[in-house]
Amino acid sequence: MSTTEQTYIMIKPDGVQRGLVGDIIARFEKRGFKLVALKLATPTKEHLEKHYADLSSKGFFPRLIEYMMSGPVVCMVWEGLDAVKTGRVMLGATNPLASAPGTIRGDYALQVGMNVCHGSDSVENGQKEVELWFPEGINQYKLAAQAWIYE
Ligand code: ADP
Repeated sequence: MSTTEQTYIMIKPDGVQRGLVGDIIARFEKRGFKLVALKLATPTKEHLEKHYADLSSKGFFPRLIEYMMSGPVVCMVWEGLDAVKTGRVMLGATNPLASAPGTIRGDYALQVGMNVCHGSDSVENGQKEVELWFPEGINQYKLAAQAWIYE
């Protein structure tokens, strides 16, 4: 656990189309995480197949890739204490019907195939995803509020 742990968070096409971008960014900002990379992107099929390579044998894989290609996505890297695990908690369970109210999916989604957002599931995968989505590199700066977030 470190204050510089990074997680890759992505707002999926349904989240963009439903106007949830500002709300999702605000949740991570207000929690105390530091935004170190952000862009709107329309990924290719090949790029998405790399991102979801671990799921390629699943029956829903073609549908998942099609869904993720249905519009632009917002790509972000957030940094902070236990960012990967806390990010997953903030997203909620993969199936929105099992997501607690107060989580992003628990507040805004009903079905697993339209679950609004992605978050890295391990520190190792987080680093791979940051490199895959931000080959240009991420930003380094000191967050002025840091001293009011960490003891
Ligand atoms: P998570 O996104 O919570 O890490 P997974 O890695 O298991 O979950 O799955 C990746 C994405 O694939 C999910 O967020 C969801 O969009 C989609 N998905 C997972 N399971 C199903 C399913 N049974 N049917 C349709 N889509 C699914």
